[in-house]
Amino acid sequence: MSTLLVTGADLVGEGPQDLLVEDGVITEVGRIRSARGADVLEADGLVALPGLVDLHTHLREPGREDAETIASGSAAAAVGGFTAVLAMANTDPVTDTAEAAERVLDLGRAAGLVDVQPVGAVTKALAGEELAELGLMHRSRAKVSVFSDDGKCVHDARVMRRALEYVRAFGGVVSQHAQDPRLAGPSACCHEGELSGRLGLPGWPGIAEETIVARDVMLARHTGSRVHIAHVSTAGSVEVLRWAKAQGIDVTAEVTPHHLVLTTDLVSGYDPTFKVNPPLRPLEDVEALRAALSDGTIDAVATDHAPHARHDKEHAFVDAAFGMLGLETALAVVSDTMVRAGLLDWAAVARVMSQAPARIAGLSDHGQPLAAGSPANLTLVDPTAEVTVDRSASLSLSRNNPWHGRTLRGAVHATVLRGRVTAMKGAIA
Ligand SMILES: [Zn+2]
Repeated sequence: MSTLLVTGADLVGEGPQDLLVEDGVITEVGRIRSARGADVLEADGLVALPGLVDLHTHLREPGREDAETIASGSAAAAVGGFTAVLAMANTDPVTDTAEAAERVLDLGRAAGLVDVQPVGAVTKALAGEELAELGLMHRSRAKVSVFSDDGKCVHDARVMRRALEYVRAFGGVVSQHAQDPRLAGPSACCHEGELSGRLGLPGWPGIAEETIVARDVMLARHTGSRVHIAHVSTAGSVEVLRWAKAQGIDVTAEVTPHHLVLTTDLVSGYDPTFKVNPPLRPLEDVEALRAALSDGTIDAVATDHAPHARHDKEHAFVDAAFGMLGLETALAVVSDTMVRAGLLDWAAVARVMSQAPARIAGLSDHGQPLAAGSPANLTLVDPTAEVTVDRSASLSLSRNNPWHGRTLRGAVHATVLRGRVTAMKGAIA
């Protein structure tokens, strides 16, 4: 029997306690003087959170193992404080069958650092036309319950309606990448405004997101089903979500760390590191997103970790791939941006980075209270550590890190998956 004693951790900001973990389960919380044979993890001054859960990770395997593998992405996730990640379906081949989903699950188990839960495609090959094998994926060993064509929008309203009706039968959810392709096509890469005009970059207007969000909350109401909006990026989308929630519509939403901080002016030097989809927005949008995360209109933080090989990212801005790394820096960015500013306390961080994402994804082993009987998935955070991000220190295979050179306050100290320390101070344990 393996035993771990965590001493003196501030449990979700509610004061110091000791935690005893036996065989992967928390068995005692309180003042525990000693536990015979236990490994001791001293956590004085650290905040203990339930293990972080990422609703939106691109692991690139199968197909682009030069950019990331399930093993390398799992390592980046573990040092970032995550105990579970949802692996997006836009791999090559696409995760649109039960077999493909089970392969991702098995590769995650083989890596053994975080629970890798596959997301299934909504439509075959992400083509937006024919529904993928949603039921078969759900009934497979991978028990897929989150479906997304992420990278692409399910733009056809009839297909979206049918997908919502289908997943309702088993309590699944469709996670929508909201981008009307008629208003923001594949080349759109810069927030549409004065800056995109001056830089000569194809504009990606907020309305292309907001019209899809508005349509999809109405489809969720009509079908009685559950919709999740990925990477919300505009104040207008926040307004729609606030209205929809007030009506009792079953909608949830996520925001990325980068959309909580980085603004569109960063692209003025044409640095493709800052090319992301949806694009970085003006400060008004960033401030609305922070407020929405703080007041619960946005339920969760999700990284949209999007590793890219150098030869895909280091191009002229218009030709470079979309996306940024995020797993290793997410907690630090949320701490530095939201906790330091008083917009979230640690209990709220636990809510938006663990409990809500676990609930949305239906992961019953995660996001549980740090109490006797819960699986011992936890993240220990040093709230006062200041770390300067160095992209060369990443465990990801890619280097497209928009936080490089920034000093962030708040760092993951250790991550524990079912009682086993998976990461410690930025390294795999
Ligand atoms: Zn997306």
